[in-house]
Amino acid sequence: MSSKIADIRCQLFRVPLREAMSDAKHGTHTHFELLTVTIRLADGSEGTGYTYTGGKGGRAIRAVIEHDLVPFLIGRDGADIDAIHDWMWWHLHYVGRGGITAFAVSAVDIALWDLRGKREGQALWQMAGGAGRTAKAYRGGIDLNFPLDQLLSSVAGYLDAGYTAVKIKVGQPTLEQDVARVRAVREMIGPDVTFMVDANYALDVPQAIAAAKAFAPYDIYWFEEPIEPDDYLGYATIADATGMPLAMGENLHTVHEFGYALAQSKLSFIQPDASNCGGITGWLRVAALFGPAGIPVCSHGMQELHVSLVAGYPSSGWVEAHSFDIDQYTTRPLLLDQGQAVAPEEPGIGVTFNWELLSPYATE
Ligand SMILES: [Mg+2]
Repeated sequence: MSSKIADIRCQLFRVPLREAMSDAKHGTHTHFELLTVTIRLADGSEGTGYTYTGGKGGRAIRAVIEHDLVPFLIGRDGADIDAIHDWMWWHLHYVGRGGITAFAVSAVDIALWDLRGKREGQALWQMAGGAGRTAKAYRGGIDLNFPLDQLLSSVAGYLDAGYTAVKIKVGQPTLEQDVARVRAVREMIGPDVTFMVDANYALDVPQAIAAAKAFAPYDIYWFEEPIEPDDYLGYATIADATGMPLAMGENLHTVHEFGYALAQSKLSFIQPDASNCGGITGWLRVAALFGPAGIPVCSHGMQELHVSLVAGYPSSGWVEAHSFDIDQYTTRPLLLDQGQAVAPEEPGIGVTFNWELLSPYATE
């Protein structure tokens, strides 16, 4: 069979950020890890998938792929994406059900979708549902460590770049400090720019309720990850107590976790990340849970790929343009048109890495 998997190549890059960036719980980021998986079929066609981390775990993800997936994937029918996805899940289940293995499954799955799109002449936005080619987009800063003047200048830079929606980090040592930063940003951007905040689960439920009430006068579009993502019912408590729209999803890795969040958390937005929830197959399964429930399906990270999923899937979600600028190492960084992100048209996932730019950051 020509679509048999003949070869799989894994590469891990450790890419420096332009500046150190902090959030409330992950600490300071100086690099991101980019792990690429290139699958070649017996007919010679190639597809590349990938995942990324905040700088930790990349070697373990690579080891899972190379030792525990590749030997079993060679010879399988690369066109059978759903079956391979489910097989990977069960194959790794005892050490998996999320975490490192979810990242490994995601990278392989995305490579298979790249192959599918190239084989069928379909762009990812079409394979994701074909609803449209553009999506609402916002720029998410990792800026908790920025002094106020730097925070304001970085947000101003997002607006200069064409964004009409911005997100900042909260989770300073005191609520008063957070409120002062939120107020200063709102005063600078004016009433018409959409404004979100993200606590990276720094708070407990009472703190989050107090923060949501204190942020409310500044017209906050959503409050992201106020508390730890595993406290599904805690999210509902905050939503009930404050009416603040809540968002999360970047730290949910299994379709079951997303199911609990849908049933229990009273979220207003869901933010699956195809790099860690089972790839494009996983993202679309999450979307199929939340879309019909009327909850906008958004994304976290890797804007260069998610633009196609959010645009193509029939929902009204937002693409996050993340501060890990993976798209700067591709042939087509995220494209904005009047504040909307535009999905690429080429067949496949629409993400082609510039290997020359990445090569200085390759690891062994
Ligand atoms: Mg976040």
